[in-house]
Amino acid sequence: MNDAQSLVEVRGLRKYFGGGKHPVRAVDDVSFSIRVGETLGLVGESGSGKSTIGRLLTRLVDPTAGEMVYQGEGPATDLAQLTQSQYRPLRSKIQIIFQDPYASLNPRMRIRQVLAEALDTHGMAKGAARQPRIDELLQQVGLRPEHAERFPHEFSGGQRQRIGIARALAVQPNFIVADEPLSALDVSIQAQVVNLLGELKERLGLTLLFISHDLDVVEYLCDRVVVLYLGHVMEIAPTEALYANPLHPYTKALLAAAPIPDPALRRTIPLLQGDLPSPADPPSGCVFRTRCPMALPQCASASMELRELAPGRMTACWRMGPTGEAVLP
Ligand code: ADP
Ligand code: MG
Repeated sequence: MNDAQSLVEVRGLRKYFGGGKHPVRAVDDVSFSIRVGETLGLVGESGSGKSTIGRLLTRLVDPTAGEMVYQGEGPATDLAQLTQSQYRPLRSKIQIIFQDPYASLNPRMRIRQVLAEALDTHGMAKGAARQPRIDELLQQVGLRPEHAERFPHEFSGGQRQRIGIARALAVQPNFIVADEPLSALDVSIQAQVVNLLGELKERLGLTLLFISHDLDVVEYLCDRVVVLYLGHVMEIAPTEALYANPLHPYTKALLAAAPIPDPALRRTIPLLQGDLPSPADPPSGCVFRTRCPMALPQCASASMELRELAPGRMTACWRMGPTGEAVLP
């Protein structure tokens, strides 16, 4: 994974919550790269650690171990090693958009203040430059200058998410983590926000980590996909290859449901048989083995590391041979 094109290289990342004998292993030895200019999808069931990865990259939580090497315009920096004050200047470069835009907007602040506050944090667009910059931001996300005088409750869900996006863009990031940005929106609005994200990404040259449980949107929007299960990466692949030919039994299970043309019935992460094991007491060996239809006795003793089976295609499964055929460990 020595890709010169990487914006972020995540290596051996861990986040354990709580101390003692059984901490919650929300993220457990996760490695993947995010390439400059790509939209990388991060999928997995609820509780698999997706949000925690997003919060680690934006240093809203501190990692337990591992590296997150960010190579922006300056020298490569391991985000994991930075103190909060050392990280602060990078906050303008790395922004996060949340699922519920309403919860992340102060109800007593006009949109002008919301955006001004973001600009002030990084000393941007001061004085006479402020007003035109706020107008420009609103226009970039499909809102109008007069919207600046309104309060969050005066907007629809889709408009609020546009404000969330404008606030992220205000500080001129090059990397955006979008954590389920569509989940709180009506289906009819979701496509507009997806298209907006896609357009902005192209126009502003952004790199996007798109966290979602909507497999159809991920297929539409993302260049590559990381499949997460119980804090572990199961598979990484270019989107087309992943959807055409999932290699890992977990990915196969996720994609088993056929696409449904009705947008209101889009494919989302299906409920697999049995419960997700507790990340405080994960299964030995491969963490998926307790729900895996292909599990072998050997899968309980050790997990297969993530291996590259074909260019760009990585999977962590004993069953997969060098060309993707099923083999025994
Ligand atoms: P996802 O976004 O995929 O649904 P999360 O990253 O939110 O998953 O959570 C992964 C696991 O970590 C879950 O078991 C969750 O309960 C746990 N977790 C997340 N945040 C905390 C926290 N602040 N304290 C303790 N456990 C947490
Ligand atoms: Mg989440």
